[in-house]
Amino acid sequence: RGRFAPSPTGPLHAGSLVAALASWLDARRHGGCWLVRIEDVDTPRCVPGADRLILEQLERCGLVPDEPPLWQSTRGDAYQAALDRLVAQGQAYPCACSRKDIETALAAQGRPRVRGREAAYPGTCRDGLHGRPARAWRFRVPDGVVHWHDRRLGDQGQEVAREVGDFVLRRADGLWAYQLAVVVDDTDQGITHVVRGEDLADNTARQLLLQRALGVASPTWLHTPLVLGANGEKLSKQNGAQALDLASPLSALNDAAAALGLPPQQGSVSDALAAWIKLWPFLQSTGV
Ligand code: GLU
Repeated sequence: RGRFAPSPTGPLHAGSLVAALASWLDARRHGGCWLVRIEDVDTPRCVPGADRLILEQLERCGLVPDEPPLWQSTRGDAYQAALDRLVAQGQAYPCACSRKDIETALAAQGRPRVRGREAAYPGTCRDGLHGRPARAWRFRVPDGVVHWHDRRLGDQGQEVAREVGDFVLRRADGLWAYQLAVVVDDTDQGITHVVRGEDLADNTARQLLLQRALGVASPTWLHTPLVLGANGEKLSKQNGAQALDLASPLSALNDAAAALGLPPQQGSVSDALAAWIKLWPFLQSTGV
């Protein structure tokens, strides 16, 4: 069971179609099911109507989910149950720190901010709130390197405690954090194969830690190549990537396939998809 999990912050662009196509091909090649999950937890960033537009774009490209799509905005109870469980196990704790508190604590510890990256949480509230009101909830990250295998990138490792620190599960504004939502949903939807863009690879170790803490199975991981814009940066809605032009879905699909190392096809969308299923290079011979 695979999935494509777009955030409805705008229509699909050339970069997101790569992840959609790859996850679909992987599921089809393995005789599996392909699902779509609309990741609309970060409500201030969601654009009304983008979810419907994305589903329409996928359909134009012949990528139709095998089950009704799931909207994360309907899943608050499941996320709360997971958080309650982590709290009961002592693996999540409330945090009173504002951004400014964190910066002050990091400066006091003499830990410079790493350029382009948020510094690891300094651990101020690990042992209690010290009388301050709770704002967010954090995961208590265990020490050690988290090892995992990517089907394209090979063996990976991250020392989450040092590089990321105790990460947020529920934000101070009450919104659920992506890390918790994605793990709870992948579990409840029975996802066995996660296929997504390489920009998300950095989240995998955190998600593995959450899966272990919740005592659930981990999927296999495949992170697909990113499509770079003319400026050499990753294409994203944030840097103004163009919505897919679906006047010709086949040419959009051919571009996405090229990013996956698959040859261009002519003819109908369904013939092209059928040809790429046969050529799919990322085979997974063993089960999970
Ligand atoms: N919603 C995430 C995004 O659009 C993808 C999450 C995932 O595939 O794990 O970037």
